[in-house]
Amino acid sequence: MREGSLEAPTRHPLNWTVPEFWDQSTLDKELERVFDICHGCRRCVSLCGSFPTLFDLVDNGKTGEVDGVPKERFKEVVDQCYLCDMCFMTKCPYVPPHPWNLDFPHLMLRAKAVQFKANGAKAADRFMTSTDKVGLFAGIPIVTKIVNAVNRTRPARVVAEKALGLARDAWRPEFASRTFRARAHSRPQAPLRDGAKTPGKVAIFSTCYVNYNEPGIGHDLLRILEHNEIPYEIVGSEVCCGMPKLEIGDLDSVANNQRINIAQLAPLARNGYAILAAVPSCALMFKQELPLLFPDDADVRRVGEAMWDPFDYLVARHKDGLLRTDFKVPLGTVSYHVPCHSRVQNIGKKTEAMLQLTPDVKLTTVERCSGHSGLWGSRTEYHAMAMKIGRPVFTKMAESAPDYISSDCPLAVHHIAQGIEGLAADDGAAKAPIAAHPLTLVRIAYGLSDPES
Ligand code: SF4
Ligand code: SF4
Repeated sequence: MREGSLEAPTRHPLNWTVPEFWDQSTLDKELERVFDICHGCRRCVSLCGSFPTLFDLVDNGKTGEVDGVPKERFKEVVDQCYLCDMCFMTKCPYVPPHPWNLDFPHLMLRAKAVQFKANGAKAADRFMTSTDKVGLFAGIPIVTKIVNAVNRTRPARVVAEKALGLARDAWRPEFASRTFRARAHSRPQAPLRDGAKTPGKVAIFSTCYVNYNEPGIGHDLLRILEHNEIPYEIVGSEVCCGMPKLEIGDLDSVANNQRINIAQLAPLARNGYAILAAVPSCALMFKQELPLLFPDDADVRRVGEAMWDPFDYLVARHKDGLLRTDFKVPLGTVSYHVPCHSRVQNIGKKTEAMLQLTPDVKLTTVERCSGHSGLWGSRTEYHAMAMKIGRPVFTKMAESAPDYISSDCPLAVHHIAQGIEGLAADDGAAKAPIAAHPLTLVRIAYGLSDPES
């Protein structure tokens, strides 16, 4: 029998609209089948907490096999999965087209969905994954100041830990005093220059994080587009891509957000825009997860095909001979992290390629899970695990004493910065590197002024 990963893996649609998907006993049988294969294989033991939890449950069970594990305890494995997709993409030899047809992350997603349907989610998780509502509320100017100020205090962090299950020591994003979408305006004036690989016009899907938390990343992208005379539109209106809801198994909310976003994005895709999203998880949602959840929807497919990672777009633009390379400012030593949700997009190391175009850069690249994983790594019960998973990344990224640390995932880079600060404190070292998004680094390297200053 040939191993499936010798050819490109196939991802099957999730098939969540059939009653069988939701049937607990059918799900338990599939969990048993897959857990049994994993227990015999163990390749993924170092990836995350799901696999060690599974192997301990089996090894310490009555029979030493999966049938010795009470089914109620399967949840412990499911809860440790934060859907990074790394087991499917980088380790598993039994992914389709292998006849064993193993898709561990999507099985975990199914189990989360069944769990969510039966019991709902904790109020705190429902609240924290409603990124639009949280952002809108916290974005009210007076509220922004209070939330940010309160968030910085230890007593408030203890309260948030008790009320929302957010670990008091975890890095937490601040809210911007002005959202990205409030300041960003379309600039369609530049002449249209389509390349062989790239559409000449771009639409910006802001993402909740850029819009509410770090608008500077979005403005840096706009500065880079303007510098390269690429006309762009800001998407008329948008809601969360749905990834946070997917992570808690709330598929109805995912479907609801999908309907709203696709109505906005499909006309742009049909009109030949490259749609750019600066957060890898959001781009992945449109490129992979929504097409697998809604396989018969032509508009979802079309939007998925039109969605680009910004660096994939810029590097393709370079190959088209349409990207300026008049970089002026050396970045020095940069330690760059490729987040899991960039790797899963199968686009190659485009951010690395772009940073290498900048003058005299000393670049090291780390391709390993940082452990942050959205809300998961901030939760009280998983934060210590998130720091443990990330430790090899922190160590490797600190090794070159970089001027900058960077990651396409704007949450991961702060988690890594926190980890490096911890290492520096352990070693008595004083200086922690500056955490910056790669788009910010490219804007700096071009010598373009900070749009937020
Ligand atoms: S998807 Fe990621 S977190 Fe989930 S089981 Fe696989 S490696 Fe672990
Ligand atoms: S997901 Fe695949 S590679 Fe990982 S432990 Fe299971 S069978 Fe092995």
